[in-house]
Amino acid sequence: MALELFNARTREREAFETIEPGKVKMYCCGPTIHDYAHIGNFRTFVFCDLMRRYLKYSGYQVYQVTNLTDVEDKIIAKSQAEGKDFKVFTKEYADKFFEDLQTLNIENSEVHPRATDPDVMDKMAEMIVDLMEKGHAYKADDGSIYFSIKTWEDYGKFARIEVEDLRKGERVKDDEYEKGSACDFALWKAWTPADGPVFWEYPELGKGRPGWHLECSAMGLLYLGETFDLHLGGIDLLFPHHQNEIAQSECCTGKRFVNYWVHSQHLQVEGEKMSKSLGNFYTLRDMLDPEKNASGKAWDPMAIRLALLKVHHGARLNFTFDDLHSSAQNLERLHGFIKRCREIAGDCKAPEAKHPLVVKARQDFNKAMDADLNISLALAAVFTLVTEANKRFDASENDSKELAYWCLEVMTSWETVLGLRLFEEKDELELTEEEQQWLEARSAARSAKEWAEADRLRDLLLDRGITVIDTPDGQKWEKKGP
Ligand code: AMP
Ligand code: ZN
Repeated sequence: MALELFNARTREREAFETIEPGKVKMYCCGPTIHDYAHIGNFRTFVFCDLMRRYLKYSGYQVYQVTNLTDVEDKIIAKSQAEGKDFKVFTKEYADKFFEDLQTLNIENSEVHPRATDPDVMDKMAEMIVDLMEKGHAYKADDGSIYFSIKTWEDYGKFARIEVEDLRKGERVKDDEYEKGSACDFALWKAWTPADGPVFWEYPELGKGRPGWHLECSAMGLLYLGETFDLHLGGIDLLFPHHQNEIAQSECCTGKRFVNYWVHSQHLQVEGEKMSKSLGNFYTLRDMLDPEKNASGKAWDPMAIRLALLKVHHGARLNFTFDDLHSSAQNLERLHGFIKRCREIAGDCKAPEAKHPLVVKARQDFNKAMDADLNISLALAAVFTLVTEANKRFDASENDSKELAYWCLEVMTSWETVLGLRLFEEKDELELTEEEQQWLEARSAARSAKEWAEADRLRDLLLDRGITVIDTPDGQKWEKKGP
């Protein structure tokens, strides 16, 4: 079977066929850089990375664009509140975003354009002029320019919404708006004194700045062509953002903008929508700092990656600390397995035939991923192999050496898809004698239910950069490198 994807455009699962054989041109809606990205955002970006990695593993050459929105309502308001030039303000968050990508082992896209890049800005201006000439856009009294949804009969089709005739003349200038308000949206926002020094100027448009929806259309057309293969993003973007992208682009080119649209469902934390008021809103950085998340632990970024990755993108992901804990254990299991395979395989080099257990596991993995990237089933194939191979190693079967060799081989290729840094040696940092004693004393205190003493010892260890994790198999520790 070849790859099939659930396509939001047709609402069907379809065979994935690219425009140019062997090449995928794909676009992922990136972050708005007015803050640190949160774990919900990373659910989507890890999903985009999984898609990218699996396409490459399947033999495609991938050309990916992920934008950085560096001018919109919130950015202007926040940079002004902090008294910073908006360019300085967005650069700080862009840098942090790229650091976070590295932390989660998310590959960089081929292009990371920003809305304020001169060629993107020019492309947006060109599109607005084109849309006005074709009668799809008009200038309102305040000088802002809007896309007129009544001029395009397909408006609403992609998002499956009926556009009420009554609302067709209404306008919305905000960058974000809800489904109930399908109406004319801003392509160009005329400058107002509140915007301060943030503006661009074109003879046909006047002084102002682009609306948020337009940048993804302009970047798609600029870097991927008039029609490209695949467009990804979080489900919240389906309407209005993606509907508007389609309207703008297709009215300019007269061609279908994108063949396949795939969305990831939102992430919830402990069963609830993530929000600052509920105290369950976490940036990636919060998860790495024991002071900043409710579990009081510094989590391994790869455990976070696994927790974000392991649920199918079409299903809502409930992110819990219990689950993160089990992801950390699963990861440890994989590291332990690779270590064991290395020891058993020794100097074994490419034995004649592939081991049937590994052949079956690889088939199962591929089959699951080909079925709309069914990652949970694919991971089940990985762990089934671990279990089955371990049984054979325990029984010292004759073929253990060859099996270990092929397990390492398949794990290496799975690692290119999963990106869990499975082959990186974990820092085996030694504990001092004193730290060792604290650890033992803590374990004894817990057994005696002396919680205050156990917590005191945990804090002493934490001060030395040692995080203690309680698992059903007893306490484990992690030490941050120097
Ligand atoms: P933003 O920075 O808000 O423009 O969002 C960047 C990306 O993260 C978009 O693709 C959003 O759809 C996605 N996103 C935002 N919140 C969540 C969430 N809770 N779960 C999953 N994806 C999200
Ligand atoms: Zn977008």
